[in-house]
Amino acid sequence: MKIAVLSGKGGTGKTLVSVNLAAAAKTSTYIDCDIEEPNGHLFFKPENTQEEEITINIPKVDNELCNGCRKCVDFCKFNALAYIKEKLIVFEEVCHSCGGCILFCPEEALTEREKVIGKVQKGTSDQVTVYTGILNTGEASGIPMIKKLLHENTPPSNKLTFIDCPPGSACMVMDSIKDADYCILVAEPTIFGVHNLNMVYELVKLFNKSFGVVLNKCVEGDNPAERFCVEKNIKILSRLPFDSELGILNSNAKIAVRENEKYQALFSSLLEIVQEEVQHETTSHS
Ligand code: SF4
Ligand code: SF4
Repeated sequence: MKIAVLSGKGGTGKTLVSVNLAAAAKTSTYIDCDIEEPNGHLFFKPENTQEEEITINIPKVDNELCNGCRKCVDFCKFNALAYIKEKLIVFEEVCHSCGGCILFCPEEALTEREKVIGKVQKGTSDQVTVYTGILNTGEASGIPMIKKLLHENTPPSNKLTFIDCPPGSACMVMDSIKDADYCILVAEPTIFGVHNLNMVYELVKLFNKSFGVVLNKCVEGDNPAERFCVEKNIKILSRLPFDSELGILNSNAKIAVRENEKYQALFSSLLEIVQEEVQHETTSHS
């Protein structure tokens, strides 16, 4: 069972929820797809780590064969090619590795070369298998790394997998939730939080995913994110309190469920609710 945890912006509590759910589940897999700023490994401190470089193919020009027709330049929608002073220049930082220019070149002057865009680490923390994608700074797209993390490291289907998605609702998030059985949307109790929640709400609806909301940093009084859920008839899975003890544990990169039975109970109960939701969805669709 794959559970994706997402939010419209960073700092909402996405990693807090996914890390603690994975730890509460005991035997599980945690995949950090927030590859521009991965921090799940800071909590898990995985041991026995293995590393693998992730590469993409980008074009390489043979200036002897290139006749300067500029067909490849016109073709590239990412402006990654320019023909300047009788030379084809490849701006590899913005190349999305689509390979189209190579197919399009009538002179076969373009071939592929590998470029490293980052690395994937795998390790263990108690009974949690931890995968971390680390994208090099300035890379145009992390999609190949997300694919590697999610599709080539598929754990057994009976194992619980928690996907810590990138923030927002762009392509990398879409790829991260594509195969998820359930999505947890994490929201803050502010008007701005509602705006961010709405972004991911629209996304999971578009992908026709089953989902529920975790309201984070809840205090007494009005909660605009909660009002949004009630208005839209969205299932509220849990209300995590605005709690200084939890905040201190989190800011010290401690996994709350491993430190305190109160949090073990809180996240185990959330996990139970999510599993029931998935079960319910599976039964009602079969
Ligand atoms: S399409 Fe081929 S021949 Fe034309 S400019 Fe590009 S690399 Fe050169
Ligand atoms: S591979 Fe695609 S993105 Fe990269 S330069 Fe060629 S056409 Fe542009």
